[in-house]
Amino acid sequence: MKLSKPKYIFVTGGVASSLGKGIISASIARLLQARGYTVTIQKLDPYINIDPGTLNPYEHGECYVTEDGTETDLDLGHYERFTSITTTHANNVTTGKIYKSVIEKERKGEYLGKTVQVIPHITDEIKRCIQFLGQTKQYDIIITEIGGTVGDIESLPFIESVRQLRYQLGYRNTALVHLTLIPYMAASGELKTKPTQHSVKALLENGLQPDILVLRTEHPLTKELRRKVALFCNVDPEAVMESIDVPTIYECPLRMHEQHLDDVVLEKLNIPADQEPDLESLRSFVDKVKHPSSTVDIALVGKYTELPDAYKSICESFIHAGAANDCKVRLHYVNSEKVNAGNAAELLGKMSGILVAPGFGNRGIDGKIEAVRYARENNIPFFGICLGMQCAVIEFARNVLGLEGAASVETEPSTPYPVIDLMEEQKGVTAKGGTMRLGGYPCTLVKGSHAAEAYGKQTVVERHRHRYEFNNDYLERFEAAGMRAAGLNPDTGLVEVVEIPSHRWFVGTQYHPEYKSTVRTPHPLFTSFVAAAMAYRDSK
Ligand code: GLN
Repeated sequence: MKLSKPKYIFVTGGVASSLGKGIISASIARLLQARGYTVTIQKLDPYINIDPGTLNPYEHGECYVTEDGTETDLDLGHYERFTSITTTHANNVTTGKIYKSVIEKERKGEYLGKTVQVIPHITDEIKRCIQFLGQTKQYDIIITEIGGTVGDIESLPFIESVRQLRYQLGYRNTALVHLTLIPYMAASGELKTKPTQHSVKALLENGLQPDILVLRTEHPLTKELRRKVALFCNVDPEAVMESIDVPTIYECPLRMHEQHLDDVVLEKLNIPADQEPDLESLRSFVDKVKHPSSTVDIALVGKYTELPDAYKSICESFIHAGAANDCKVRLHYVNSEKVNAGNAAELLGKMSGILVAPGFGNRGIDGKIEAVRYARENNIPFFGICLGMQCAVIEFARNVLGLEGAASVETEPSTPYPVIDLMEEQKGVTAKGGTMRLGGYPCTLVKGSHAAEAYGKQTVVERHRHRYEFNNDYLERFEAAGMRAAGLNPDTGLVEVVEIPSHRWFVGTQYHPEYKSTVRTPHPLFTSFVAAAMAYRDSK
C-alpha cells in the first residue's frame, strides 16, 4: 500500500442494464494497478437473495465462486481475471446480506430502544461493508460497483450510502464514475445524448454529481457530442469517455487508457500519477487474442447453451488458453438435451475437443453422458468439469465396467450402482443457501498424469461447488479397467481428478478450474486441453 489512507471509487450505471459496469470497473482497476497502486473491486447487488448461489443461471448468468467459498456475482470473475486479485465474501454484498446482518443485530439488542430504519441503519451497514475493505489496509483504492440502474427503487439505499460516504470522506478522496448508453437512431443516423442527461439528473436528484462519464456506444462519438454531454452533465470534457464495442473485452483497459481515464481518475482522487503505466503484457495478450495463428473447434456441451453468460468463466478460460497457444478457440455450444446416440457423430464429429459442463439436476444428463461416450470411444480430447466429470465416471461405469443403471444419486436416488454419491458431510443437509462444498481445497496429483504434467507441480488448490462426489467403493474397479484417480484430496481421500491414461487427453475434475484462470495466468488444464485439441486437429 502506497497511500496513507485508502481512496474510494464508485461506479454506477444509468439508462439500461448490461452496459458492462463490471468490465469498466475491472478496467479502471487494471489501469490503477499498472500505475503501481493496490486495488480491489467490490460489487453491491440490490437484490434480496443473500447471494446468487440459489439463482438459476438464466436469472443472472454464472454463479462465480471465490477462494474463501463465497458464491458470488459473475462480475467478480471479471475482477479476478483482469487484475489477478483474489476476492472474498467482502467483495460481494447484496441487499439480503445487509438486511440479514441488521436484523440479527436488532435481535441481539444492538439498537435497543431505537426504531430500526433504512436511514441510518441500513445505510450505515452498507457504508460499513464498503469501508471494511479499506480498513484491511491492503488496498490504496477500493472500487465499488453498484449493481442495477440509477432510478431503481431497490438501489436507492446504496446510492444514498454513496452520497453520505462522499460527503464524509471528502470529495477528493472519492470519485464517482457513471456509465450510460448513447443510443443510435438508425432512421435519422443520430446518436442521442438525452437518456444520459436524464440519468445524470436522476443521480443529481439523489445528491450525487458524477466526476467521470463513460458512454457506451456502437458508433464513435464526436468531440462535439462529448462537449455537449459535458456541458449538460457538469463534468469536464476530458472526463467524458467513449466506451465503444471492442472485439475483446480485454481491450477495454487499453481503450480507456488512450482517453487518459487513469490520469483523470488519479487527478480526481488527488493522488500522484508519477508512474507511467506498464501495459505491455496486456497489449501483447490482446494482440494474441486478436491475431491468432490458427483456430480450433471445441464443443461445450451443457444445458444452458442459450445463455453464454451461464458459462462465463469457462468461455473466458478458453480465451486465456487460446492466447497461450496462439490459437483461437471457436466454442460451439451444444445443447445436451439434444444429444443422443443417434446424432452424437453429427453434432460432435467435427470437433477437436469436447468439454462437458458443470450443472445440476436431471435435465440434459443423458446427452452429457452420450457426449462423454463419443469422446472416449473416438479418442477425442475430453475435459469434464464437476458434473461433467461425474458424467465421465457414470459413462465409464455403464459402458466399460458394465454396471447397468450406474448413476449419480443426485438424479437417480435408487440406482443399483451409486458411482457418484452424496458426500458424507452433506447427508442431513437440507438448507440450500451456501451449503455445498465450496471454495478452495487442496488436491494432490499423481505423478505422470496429464494433470500433473499440465500444472507442473504436485499439489494444487482449486475451487469447488458441489454436493456429490466419486464413490471410493468403486475406485479399485475403475482403476483396474483403465480410469484412474489422478488427483486426490490429501486430507479426505476424495477423488478430485479422473483420467483415462490410454486416451489422448481425457481429464475430469470435480473442482472448477475455470474460476482461477486469469489473463496473467491462464489455467494450465485449459492450456493443456487446447494444446491437445490442436494436436488432434493436426493429426486428423
Ligand atoms: N450437481 C453436481 C453436484 O452437486 C455437480 C455440481 C456442479 O457441476 N457444479 O455434485
